[in-house]
Amino acid sequence: MRIAILGGGLTGLCAAHRLLGEHEVTVFEKKPFFGGLAASFEHEGFKLPLYYHHVIESNTTTLKYFKNFGLLDEPKWKRVKMGIAVNSKVYDFIDPASLLKFDYLSPSERLRYGLFGAYALYWMNPDAIPEGVNAYDWLVSKAGRGVTEKIFVPLYAENKFGIPLKQISARQFATRLKSAEFKTRFVYPKKGFHSLVKGFEKRIKKRGGGLVTRADVKLDLVKKVIKNKGKKQGFDVVINTAPLPEFLGFTKGLPKAYAEKLGRIRYCSAVCVGFGTKDFLDEHYWINILKQRVHMVMQHSLLHDSYPFKFNWALRYGGSEKDLGLSDAQIKSVYLRVVKKHFPKMEVEWSKVFRERYASPIYDLNYLRNKPGYETPVESLFQAGVAVTYPWVRDCNSALKSGERVAEIVQ
Ligand SMILES: Cc1cc2nc3c(=O)[nH]c(=O)nc-3n(C[C@H](O)[C@H](O)[C@H](O)COP(=O)(O)OP(=O)(O)OC[C@H]3O[C@@H](n4cnc5c(N)ncnc54)[C@H](O)[C@@H]3O)c2cc1C
Repeated sequence: MRIAILGGGLTGLCAAHRLLGEHEVTVFEKKPFFGGLAASFEHEGFKLPLYYHHVIESNTTTLKYFKNFGLLDEPKWKRVKMGIAVNSKVYDFIDPASLLKFDYLSPSERLRYGLFGAYALYWMNPDAIPEGVNAYDWLVSKAGRGVTEKIFVPLYAENKFGIPLKQISARQFATRLKSAEFKTRFVYPKKGFHSLVKGFEKRIKKRGGGLVTRADVKLDLVKKVIKNKGKKQGFDVVINTAPLPEFLGFTKGLPKAYAEKLGRIRYCSAVCVGFGTKDFLDEHYWINILKQRVHMVMQHSLLHDSYPFKFNWALRYGGSEKDLGLSDAQIKSVYLRVVKKHFPKMEVEWSKVFRERYASPIYDLNYLRNKPGYETPVESLFQAGVAVTYPWVRDCNSALKSGERVAEIVQ
């Protein structure tokens, strides 16, 4: 079969890798490079992820590919410290002892928060939460209104998706919580995510697959033709892994009701400053910032300290579509000012801005109703990627698993 894969992120690369051998496969990628959200950039000869990326112990599929490609020698697993920044103060955020000092919450709210933490960790079963229950009502019933308003509204509604908690599914929220990232060990594999992407590229090329970058595709499902910059190519099967708004923009011949369903899926953007500093900012790998223009600071070098500088990200998700049109200089100035407020001694040596209009589908209350399946009403068309893997956590592991799954279905 002639198989066209749209989008060269980890989902598309993994699907291509799985399908080659028996089929003629071509991956069409819009950007000049592969890897999508997990791609890297170069600074002083070092490859650094565009956006913070790490692997946790439960990411077994991600680990499998790192291992299969010979990229996982002696992984340095670490337990990381997480912080939460409120009113320019950074607090430890995980263990019961740090909760005692967390004076942003009243004593009774701290108790409620601690009890909720224990429940989430040991007893909560996300699958038992009915679809349709919203995260706000569920959280108020489990953690109380004070904790919900002070912690979860800014942390998960404002920062994460930029929509009210009442529009977020309690089940998805609980699934994310249950993944207990704070309890697990983290690693950034020595050879980096760029080597994983290169590993896929190398294998696809070696087995005769087509890899096209800077693609500007037009897909005609009726004629079963892809046009890329004037060049036409027929296909038997097409797998879309590009964000759905992009897919709807370049595709002709979709049944109206299906196109309308996909059109109801909203996306959240991300804007990020990657920056080098002389020293660590503090001891927290992951700092969530509440009620600021920047939502997270991640200190990559606390996980992977092998550059002559310390590397960090300052990132905004929710509401970041407002920043997409700002110049790099404006974003650097505004974002780094927020970081400096929390870390006045910080000395920034260099910085770079990255923007992504479609960083993640918004898993809202209606998501399950609109969620695409791998198979579609068009026989030759399949969907894959984190738009189809809900309620799994949106990460590289889910992307790779969906690449494997779509390949299996197509086979
Ligand atoms: C800020 C941030 C931090 C993250 N941190 C982690 C982490 O620490 N660990 C982890 O496991 N995961 C993390 N993730 C999630 C992970 O990166 C993604 O889940 C995964 O990379 C998704 O892969 P994908 O191939 O499904 O989608 P994408 O990577 O989005 O790939 C889709 C591809 O389609 C291409 N495309 C778009 N339009 C077109 C078009 N018109 N024609 C052709 N191609 C097109 C895009 O350029 C892109 O390459 C993070 C994501 C973000 C945004």
